Amino acid sequence: MVLVKLQADGASTVDRETTSAQDSAVLHRHLGASFLSLEKGQSSYLVLEDGRMIFDASGGAAVGCIGWGNRRVAEAVTRQILDVPYCPTIFYTTKAQEDLCQLLVDSTNGHMARAYIVNSGSEAMEAAIKLARQYYLELEQPQPQRVRFISRRQSYHGITLGALAVGGHVTRRAKFEPIMMKNVSQVSPCFEYRGKTNGEPDEAYVERLAKELDDEFQRVGPDTVCAFVAEPVVGAALGCVPSVPGYFKAVRTVCEKYGALLILDEVMCGMGRTGTLHAWEQEGIAPDIQTIGKGLGGGYQPVAGVLVGHRVINTFEKGTGVFVHGHTYQGHPAGCAAALEVQRIIQEEGLLKNVQELAPLLSKSLVDEVGSHPNVGNVRGRGFFWGIEFVANKETSEPFPAEDHVAMDICEFALAKNYGVGVYPGGGSVDGVRGDHIIISPPYNVSGDDIKWIVATVKRVVEDFFAAKSK
Ligand code: PMP
Repeated sequence: MVLVKLQADGASTVDRETTSAQDSAVLHRHLGASFLSLEKGQSSYLVLEDGRMIFDASGGAAVGCIGWGNRRVAEAVTRQILDVPYCPTIFYTTKAQEDLCQLLVDSTNGHMARAYIVNSGSEAMEAAIKLARQYYLELEQPQPQRVRFISRRQSYHGITLGALAVGGHVTRRAKFEPIMMKNVSQVSPCFEYRGKTNGEPDEAYVERLAKELDDEFQRVGPDTVCAFVAEPVVGAALGCVPSVPGYFKAVRTVCEKYGALLILDEVMCGMGRTGTLHAWEQEGIAPDIQTIGKGLGGGYQPVAGVLVGHRVINTFEKGTGVFVHGHTYQGHPAGCAAALEVQRIIQEEGLLKNVQELAPLLSKSLVDEVGSHPNVGNVRGRGFFWGIEFVANKETSEPFPAEDHVAMDICEFALAKNYGVGVYPGGGSVDGVRGDHIIISPPYNVSGDDIKWIVATVKRVVEDFFAAKSK
């Protein structure tokens, strides 16, 4: 197989490079491990070249949301390519792009004013960062001193330099620190399992985190900050960690206090993954700028987007009206056609309702059946977006050493030993504490029986893996 092994995998926090064992944030894919060759995607299954079928219980990296092999989407993309394969967006638009943007804006209950279509989550984050900066230059009284961003440790916002700079992925940043944007600082994530102190009520935890953010604004100079950046449910970096109730209201209030924008990165947790189309709908707030990706096109085309709120759009309209940005392939017709069809299928087939109805089964059975294992420290998530964190010691929550690369090994064990289930690995460290997790994020159209099978199979994988590991 002619394939570059050290390819970057933007979605995962698993590093496929050799790194030093001392580097606690690294999970390292064994060099020399071969890739499995995919022959076909069929409903929830990935079919390998040798005929084996893998139930794709994570939709790849939480990408697949309507399953694979959907003819409607394939035909919509084919039609689009035959009609208008490429759109030079400097002069033109397409019906696919207009319809997609309208559908996205309409889905926000009036909160967002415009949509901008790009090709990847990282591109969406770059655009979001630049939009926030340019917003302050477009104001009637420009604020050019706003040059800083505040984000959270142990987050992931993409692999390009700007996205990497606001992200908190220690090992992905390490080699590029010297050439990265310097004007970013980070505060603690809202991470109940490892961040909340024993017996601390939610309100007190939220207050503590909001104060930390407020203090950070004060430390760097509140009028120098463009935006606070966060994922509503932390994906690849922490493994499906939602915030405790009230957290996003509290941080939104801090942003407002200092006139800064709120950028929510929903590339992984958005577009229905948590049971509502936008994860922020469950937080009682709306962002000023939002990025979306993975579930937007459900894996059928590389497509992502930025949703922009009224405050920013109104300011641009009164200002130059031109966002100094652009990609050759932005608003790509095939991406728009795929995303539009995927979103129509989600609407027409009532798939968000399916996620909402089956989420309690997924969460309860994961907690009851997998959470009871002595090496499972925590099971958390929302909707069809669940993370299982593994620990060496359940009592003390002590993680496994980085060099054990437990999360990656479990996923490889499941594939190599023919359990027929595909799950997604990740790991990292929060404030010096390591964690290994796997993500369960099935397509939105699975049945209750599928969920029972996924949970029972993952349970067997976890039991057999740790039994083999302890020998
Ligand atoms: N933001 C988040 C929250 C993500 O999970 C990812 C990818 N995992 C990105 C941004 C970057 O997206 P992409 O890999 O499509 O560039």
